[in-house]
Amino acid sequence: MARKIGSRYTANQILGRGSAGTVWLGEGPEGPVAIKMLREDLASDQELVGRFVQERTALLGLEHPNIVSVRDLVVDGNDLALVMDLVRGTDLRTRLERERRLAPVAAVAIVADVAEGLAAAHASGVVHRDVKPENVLLDMQGPLGPGGSHRALLTDFGVAKLIDTPRRTRATKIIGTPDYLAPEIVEGLPPRAAVDIYALATVLYELLAGFTPFGGGHPGAVLRRHVTETVVPLPGIPEELWQLIVQCLAKAPASRLRASELAARLHEQLPSLAGLPPLDVDEPDAEAEEPPAPDPAADRPAPAARERRGAVPLVPGAKPDSNRDTHTSMRVPAPDELAGGAHGTARVPRAPGAPRPGSARNRVATRRRRVALGAAAVAVVAAVGVGTWLATADSDATPGDTEHSAPATP
Ligand code: ADP
Ligand code: MG
Repeated sequence: MARKIGSRYTANQILGRGSAGTVWLGEGPEGPVAIKMLREDLASDQELVGRFVQERTALLGLEHPNIVSVRDLVVDGNDLALVMDLVRGTDLRTRLERERRLAPVAAVAIVADVAEGLAAAHASGVVHRDVKPENVLLDMQGPLGPGGSHRALLTDFGVAKLIDTPRRTRATKIIGTPDYLAPEIVEGLPPRAAVDIYALATVLYELLAGFTPFGGGHPGAVLRRHVTETVVPLPGIPEELWQLIVQCLAKAPASRLRASELAARLHEQLPSLAGLPPLDVDEPDAEAEEPPAPDPAADRPAPAARERRGAVPLVPGAKPDSNRDTHTSMRVPAPDELAGGAHGTARVPRAPGAPRPGSARNRVATRRRRVALGAAAVAVVAAVGVGTWLATADSDATPGDTEHSAPATP
């Protein structure tokens, strides 16, 4: 089912589907390419098409070994397509799902690659805004790097920005993926380069731990944790590496490293990490629930238990949203909402053998926390209720749709 895209490209076969459209394996005048066809509703938005053409130069100008280059932008009738370099390999999410946690040297090598790509982008004034494992592609045909890692390339540059047009969205909405959103975005500030550093540090933590530092449960709870919670150390992590993560997850954007510094510091640490096995940490349990009975035979929890982990539904009967959706249509919480009821949901990593939250050693503490959490949940349900009402009242987007939304960006 080959399909002509403009006068120069043919799309031959679907490689994958994403939130912004479908990616095809295609053929261009210079050989094979990847072609991302934007979703129909995005492609039919005249304002977006205008920006698409405006952004052309900036997007086409980004050339770096750790960036998936955009070769062409095609507007053809109802089609809107980004023609990119074809990366033969997999994305980082797929690898992480397969391996659960990466050895420190592999995680650091990948993140150092992405930091190099970001340094080049930031130097040209481009902020990515959607750094996450799904947008890191691993080139499996090129030579292996340190630790046996494949070269990592950051993709989807400019896509978040293209979609973030003022008319499509409302000033109080957020674009990004909840788990990776920097606190300043949650607070409504315009996204600068430091938001990419925060997201990348979150990715590094996730590659090492198997879960993100502030994820789990309702997107509103995730956003709140970015602003109010402190990251909890991972058992067994080398101290220098931990300090780097802490610095790049700083709440204040100015306290984070720049991309080039981060890349350099990660490269420095690579030799000392060689040979270290993946960290031995367990995903924290949801504290609001009775923990499942420990099964000594199982090295990973049953699927049902895994789904419940970290899930704190804030609306009675609501299914916890997937916190990996590319974009969320959450309203920016008001400062008083962020300040109130913020305690008790931090996901504290447990070293294996450490007591679960519901064990005899911890039962009293858990009971106290459960009371506190109950109070917090009531406060947040109220906040979310008001938020939903406000969002419905001031927006043309229906609540719960996954439309790409934007903060108040000038
Ligand atoms: P979205 O960001 O819109 O959610 P993606 O960019 O992640 O979608 O693309 C969907 C799928 O297409 C991904 O799983 C990825 O593996 C594949 N893909 C994307 N870009 C390329 C590329 N340049 N080369 C090869 N495969 C790609
Ligand atoms: Mg993507």
